[in-house]
Amino acid sequence: MSAEDAQLSPEQVSRRNGIHAFATVVGVLVALAAGAVLWFWLAADYPVMRYVFIVAALPTAYLLGQWPTATWLAASARCAACGADYAVSETDKQETFLSATPRRRESVVGKSISGPNEGKTLVRKESWTEERYQVVVTRTCSACGDMRQKHSVRTVTTNKVSDDIYRR
Ligand SMILES: [Zn+2]
Repeated sequence: MSAEDAQLSPEQVSRRNGIHAFATVVGVLVALAAGAVLWFWLAADYPVMRYVFIVAALPTAYLLGQWPTATWLAASARCAACGADYAVSETDKQETFLSATPRRRESVVGKSISGPNEGKTLVRKESWTEERYQVVVTRTCSACGDMRQKHSVRTVTTNKVSDDIYRR
């Protein structure tokens, strides 16, 4: 148990371990992706040396994925009120239905140049329902109890219908 662990509650320690584990996974994925790209990219010019290049690039690629992820998550888990590290987490999320708006759109797709509809314009008629939801995310600090809410609006498209018709 390190000196830092002694100051953190078990909840904060587990949140920190979760953040580090997630950041490690992101780092490994970025390193794998970079390795795969280099593997194919260098295949023609450096068939043998590419192993060396890839091994040299892996630690950097890992850090490029791991470090920003860990830093960003740690910053968002730090309490703005009391400064406790790894203390803030999402405690509630609520969605409230706001509105359902019918929408329609007509667009010209092209023109028929032969057949029974020759000379007519092909028009696409689309209609859908635009649903809006109010999203309220509550984040709470486990050290001082500070609670903050973030409001946002989520828009969803449903009941989408598309119909193509010919028109003079
Ligand atoms: Zn706090």
